[in-house]
Amino acid sequence: MKKLIAGNWKMNGSLATNAALVNAMLEGLEGPGAISELALCVPSPYLAQMQSLLAGSHIALGAQDVSAHEQGAFTGEVSAGMLRDFACRYAIVGHSERRQYHGETDVAVASKAQRALAAGITPIVCVGETLEEREAGQTEAVVKRQLAAVIHAVAHCTSEIVVAYEPVWAIGTGKTAFPEQAQQVHAVLRAQIAAATAHPERVRILYGGSMNATNAASLLAQPDIDGGLIGGASLKAADFLAIAASGA
Ligand code: PEP
Repeated sequence: MKKLIAGNWKMNGSLATNAALVNAMLEGLEGPGAISELALCVPSPYLAQMQSLLAGSHIALGAQDVSAHEQGAFTGEVSAGMLRDFACRYAIVGHSERRQYHGETDVAVASKAQRALAAGITPIVCVGETLEEREAGQTEAVVKRQLAAVIHAVAHCTSEIVVAYEPVWAIGTGKTAFPEQAQQVHAVLRAQIAAATAHPERVRILYGGSMNATNAASLLAQPDIDGGLIGGASLKAADFLAIAASGA
């Protein structure tokens, strides 16, 4: 299976800068050559713009969150059906910034994953420990608890999710997990998925947390790292393409 390199733009961008960035990426992708599967998870107001910029390209469109509800009186929320209208293939759920700043619980994240799948969207389920939890020796317990909630909710659809291991202490900090450190957690997640589905080989487990053009190759070379979720470096065309090439 090809590696999946997914960008998470977070709350960055404008009509003008998005167009320049995507055009530079698409230009860089021209020509033959094996390339990883690529996706960009963008702020919701730009879905229409991005749908048209990415049409017919190798880059799939994704959202950064999705509502746990189908429709109705949920002011400010964006439903999975709405994302589907803009041809979103992926939706990040349970990003640590959502868990941390918006109080998203494991159960809420699981409902979001379920809603995405029901609309034909692949959830990119983020799990990861804080520095405190790592130092207390709780890393495995935390990521297993977070993933278990999703597996419990999506049940027989477990083989259709993407998981992203994102140690919170590595996100946006410039501190990357050592490849062996990340691999250790990925192996735990792989075993958990294998116990839950007959098709564990279909589930990609991405690493996220200050992945960049320099450290991507060594991370992506680990046996259970199937791609990357890229924050900061997905805002620079050359860096994003270099990471994509590392995973090809
Ligand atoms: C992220 O936000 O998912 C992320 C991994 O960010 P960064 O690459 O900037 O650490």
